[in-house]
Amino acid sequence: MDKLSNVFGENVFNDAVMRARLPKATYKALKKTIEEGKPLDLDTANVIAHEMKEWAVEKGATHFTHWFQPLTGVTAEKHDAFLNPMDDGTAILSFSGKELIQGEPDASSFPSGGLRATFEARGYTAWDCTSPAFVKDGSLCIPTAFCSYNGEALDSKTPLLRSMEVISKEAIRVLRVLGNTTAKKVIANVGPEQEYFIVDKKLYDQRKDLILTGRTLFGSMAPKGQELDDHYFGAIKNRISDYMKDLDTELWKLGISAKTKHNEVAPAQHELATIFTTTNIATDHNQLVMETMKKVALKHGLVCLLHEKPFAGINGSGKHNNWSINTDDGENLLNPGKTPQNNKQFLLFLSAIISAVDDYADLLRFSAANPGNDHRLGANEAPPAIVSIFLGDQLSEVVRQIVEDTDGNYLSSSKLKIGVSTLPDLPKDATDRNRTSPFAFTGNKFEFRMAPSSGSIAGPNTILNTTVADVLSKYADRLEAASDVDAEVDAIIKESLKAHHKVLFDGNGYSDEWVEEAAKRGLPNIKSTVEAIRSLVAPKNIEVMSKHGVLTDVEMHSRYEVHLENYIKTINIEALTALEMAKRDIIPAVIKYSTSLAESINAIKSTGFDADVTAQGETLTEISKLTASAMKKVKALESAISTACSKEDSYDQAYSYRYDVFEALNSLREDVDKLETLVDSKYWPMPTYTELLFHV
Ligand code: ADP
Ligand code: MG
Repeated sequence: MDKLSNVFGENVFNDAVMRARLPKATYKALKKTIEEGKPLDLDTANVIAHEMKEWAVEKGATHFTHWFQPLTGVTAEKHDAFLNPMDDGTAILSFSGKELIQGEPDASSFPSGGLRATFEARGYTAWDCTSPAFVKDGSLCIPTAFCSYNGEALDSKTPLLRSMEVISKEAIRVLRVLGNTTAKKVIANVGPEQEYFIVDKKLYDQRKDLILTGRTLFGSMAPKGQELDDHYFGAIKNRISDYMKDLDTELWKLGISAKTKHNEVAPAQHELATIFTTTNIATDHNQLVMETMKKVALKHGLVCLLHEKPFAGINGSGKHNNWSINTDDGENLLNPGKTPQNNKQFLLFLSAIISAVDDYADLLRFSAANPGNDHRLGANEAPPAIVSIFLGDQLSEVVRQIVEDTDGNYLSSSKLKIGVSTLPDLPKDATDRNRTSPFAFTGNKFEFRMAPSSGSIAGPNTILNTTVADVLSKYADRLEAASDVDAEVDAIIKESLKAHHKVLFDGNGYSDEWVEEAAKRGLPNIKSTVEAIRSLVAPKNIEVMSKHGVLTDVEMHSRYEVHLENYIKTINIEALTALEMAKRDIIPAVIKYSTSLAESINAIKSTGFDADVTAQGETLTEISKLTASAMKKVKALESAISTACSKEDSYDQAYSYRYDVFEALNSLREDVDKLETLVDSKYWPMPTYTELLFHV
């Protein structure tokens, strides 16, 4: 392998490449657009497009594509060749500024939640020059936003970009009043940690459920689970570590600073973290990470599973979204710092985050919801479905003192400035012991731990940026009008913490007591994706998103429809796959085995010897009982699907898919999984958990 420094970013049209290849004036104009959002004229775009094409062709590209993130969660691409035939029979390679800036993919195959029904079927992609273009699989990929004819967002990037502007604007307003005259922008930085499973492709190919739904719909737990925490043994290590090396290299070429780790608790599970960067790029990179994980796995005869719960009975996969806000001149606003002013400033931003998370817990919960994550959240392996914030002992103590401060002096008095109560310089390790919290302060950033492994992180970050910006805008209004800024800062911190400290919880988030306690505190405990989707149309949520121009009322409603539809489709596919497997593979295999048992009993009896056939008889009885029960549950599942399909309203339909179809599917699984433990393994029609998890 080449040296890392040679490989890193070799397929990216990054700042260094732009500086080297673009004429000075063009480079400057583009930088202004990237950094200050200044419009780009077509002449400049033409020059950039030409240079991009020259560079991409040198890298082996023949096509270009507008790369975008529709609401399906994955990325989409439409490839066009650079090649342009001429009248004289020759051809030239060309790529214009117009082609760079705007594209028109066939939008009809992407979900719009009714947005296009009223307008045109057309959708447009627009270049997002803040995320660098790159070459992948022979195509120049241009990161773009995807909008309808009327400019409504049809993707996850558009609102994310809007939310980044909003948090920057409002945080700068607050910083200005606090006396910061240098920062021009505030940037939300994100470092995601991505969990995934790896299984053997040959085994994967024998599982219809993995192929069609990404998870095992049946499968009884292997005799050995994750209790020994030892999936480091030799055979796995070599094959997986070859994969990881290859994966790291491919990601480095795309300028993604990835570091794979063998450190997850479940067998066959691994993690990859990328170094934090601005939200938009972190989101694009995470999409590329997921895509590359899958692609590289195939080269190694492996399959990468990004589903949140590929296997029942062992831990599933999530994504930790590490988030902080920073000024463009390098100050992390979530760094508690050492000096009193910094402490106050930190406490002000901390208060804003606590307020936002408390007021918009339902939206955050929604941002982590998908059908796969329903198997995890609240199921004692992942954060509970209740959104709460972990601050750690020291910071919690500071908050307690502020909240309980009866004479109102804690903040204004010297206590916070000197002596033992001075906000300590928090040691990083001491803050991150609680792994059961969905939103944990980890020294100089917050870690949102609910995000689903297969989903885009655009959602959680859009919500975080916007809701925190909303609180900051209210703070800024007050501070700008205040005659005594110091006193106003104290008042704001105190009021915010008093009103919102109910969302703080440092205890065990997996415990039943917490569920009770959270209910007493009035914190929402939103059970499933279906109920979570409702938060998109709650008036307070529409208000906050539209007030800041991140998502309009219409866009929120369209998303509501898209997510319900996605839920319905996902569960429907799972149900149909389970039915097909049960009826055509599993039950026939069980019947074959029962027949062979019966034949064996008869054969033994016919010998005339007094041989004991109770074991065979008992097994046969049990299997027959379970088979009859499973068959009934097949019918019940079929009728649950009909019930769900008969619902007119999309929410009612999704609800029925959750509480009729999904439950019927689980019930069928119970019988099938018991059968698996009774039937001769030679008869079982698919690889078992033991093979899938331990035969990599
Ligand atoms: P962990 O103990 O969870 O593995 P790490 O320190 O390795 O914590 O960081 C995990 C992720 O957090 C990485 O992606 C890292 O880049 C990111 N990260 C670190 N500092 C920040 C920060 N200030 N803002 C946002 N993300 C950060
Ligand atoms: Mg983490």
